Amino acid sequence: MREKVGKRRGPNRRDGANFAALRRAAKGEFGSGAHRHYNARPMNAVIDRKQAHEASKLAKRLRHQVGQAIADFNMIEEGDRVMVCLSGGKDSYTLLDILRRLQAKAPVRFELAAVHLDQKQPGYDPDILPSYLRGLGVPFQVLEQDTYSVVKRVIPEGKTMCSLCSRLRRGSLYTYAAEAGYTKIALGHHRDDIVETLFLNLFHQATLKAMPPKLRSDDGRNVLIRPLAYCAESDIAEYARLQGFPIMPCNLCGSQENMQRKQIKAMLAEWDRKFPGRIETIFRAIGNIAPSQLADRSLFDFAGLGAATQAPRVDAHAWLAGEPLREDEGAAG
Ligand code: SF4
Repeated sequence: MREKVGKRRGPNRRDGANFAALRRAAKGEFGSGAHRHYNARPMNAVIDRKQAHEASKLAKRLRHQVGQAIADFNMIEEGDRVMVCLSGGKDSYTLLDILRRLQAKAPVRFELAAVHLDQKQPGYDPDILPSYLRGLGVPFQVLEQDTYSVVKRVIPEGKTMCSLCSRLRRGSLYTYAAEAGYTKIALGHHRDDIVETLFLNLFHQATLKAMPPKLRSDDGRNVLIRPLAYCAESDIAEYARLQGFPIMPCNLCGSQENMQRKQIKAMLAEWDRKFPGRIETIFRAIGNIAPSQLADRSLFDFAGLGAATQAPRVDAHAWLAGEPLREDEGAAG
């Protein structure tokens, strides 16, 4: 795996330029004195002012939700070295951007670096991310590994490649993080990803399992955090649009989104259209679980509940196929 290392530069003057422009618009910092009189203000100025207000509210909301998630799950502590996995999509750009803004005022000191994996997809432009990150002054690494050829070789034509592709990508990034001494890996999954995963597991794996905001990787080497866990995808998409992030499409490889996930997305979108707030309610339920009201015997001792004796329990086989108890073998005996 080859690696390109980015250099730290001074702060980027373009960073947040769109918001700055909107803020100026909100203050009426454009046009000459000709529009000073309220009634003479052109309609565009009123609209821009409203947009600027909405944009500022959106930025604040996202920062607040990320800060809240970090605090609730103790995601980042003093001295952490946080590696942000930057895919080039709207979610990871937003994650990096908001973490940078929070870092400036955070109550703890932590390092932040972006790491991207160039998977050698056809049509991939290797200059987009490095020039964006250099402009920001964020330390970064671009790792190179041809997972595209592997996926193409292994997955039959016409089948979705994303599952294997993401697994290989995770493997490379997590290995790098452990070797480079990062203490946390930040991923760009958001609230909607978490709820979709809940239903994917429910419908197709018969398990009540979603995506936790914080977890240890399967091999035990890394702690993964999802600071966007409380953020709605629609907010992130809007923020990314306003910020003008140089988005790199994931599906350069030609793979289609997993059909099952697509169907769940459509189902949730329909629910949320008919019953606004439903996705948020489902998300809150993930953090409000009552094991005694479910049926997982490993989470709650149903067998012991109300048991009157210490006698060995009779198993299902005995219930179904056993001989009737004799008088002198009564359960109460
Ligand atoms: S769309 Fe292509 S690059 Fe993106 S995860 Fe799927 S297979 Fe990988």
